Amino acid sequence: MIHLDNIHKYYGSAQQRLHVLKGIDLHIRAGELVSIMGSSGSGKSTLLNILGLLDRYDEGHYRLADQPMERLSERRAAQFRNQLIGFVFQSFNLLPFKNALENVALPLYYQGVGRKARNEQARHYLERVGLADRAHHMPNELSGGQKQRVAIARALVTQPKVILADEPTGALDSVTTHEVMELLHSVHRQGNTLIIVTHEPEIAAQTQRRIVLRDGRIIADPAAEPA
Ligand code: ADP
Ligand code: MG
Repeated sequence: MIHLDNIHKYYGSAQQRLHVLKGIDLHIRAGELVSIMGSSGSGKSTLLNILGLLDRYDEGHYRLADQPMERLSERRAAQFRNQLIGFVFQSFNLLPFKNALENVALPLYYQGVGRKARNEQARHYLERVGLADRAHHMPNELSGGQKQRVAIARALVTQPKVILADEPTGALDSVTTHEVMELLHSVHRQGNTLIIVTHEPEIAAQTQRRIVLRDGRIIADPAAEPA
């Protein structure tokens, strides 16, 4: 599903260049549940943003769902993102002036799906995350855990190939963290490929494959083939 080959990423200008990813090789199969651990600044979000086509890399190769992701235009990257990827962020990233249903339906709007069909599908996924009765609530009327469940429904609504979650429980208390992780587990059990970035060992411990990043390099990956 995901093939990264010797990915390098730099930030900054030529004089003040920051080498953030230093040759990442990563192969993730369809249906895997993977965590990416590492301390703050190790490059986790940068890696996830590259996987999600939100950021570019400077060297190396990336294949997603058997298609090369090389030198994409903004427009093409946006199309691939919309078709192939669902995102879940620490800060939920819901649109504040749209209700829960409208937030979930938004990716379908960008796919050109008509209003009736998109509302039906959005309602289905809101049910799936246990929030059918909150469809018309605005984000500021929802708890943190509910917001994250809406965000998960939004990530699922396009039936993406891969779901990328960047510290999905980072802003939640322990009870709500547990609920959100239960939901993510059920998403995985349904056959989705799921990659969770976290700096919490308890979260990583719940995944099948724990990858550790340090200073822009993968220092542990149980699935890495021996050289
Ligand atoms: P993590 O998610 O593991 O905390 P990040 O991927 O966010 O790490 O950041 C890795 C390094 O890249 C850090 O040193 C960070 O300061 C730097 N960095 C991240 N984003 C940018 C950016 N847009 N511009 C410049 N430096 C950045
Ligand atoms: Mg981060």
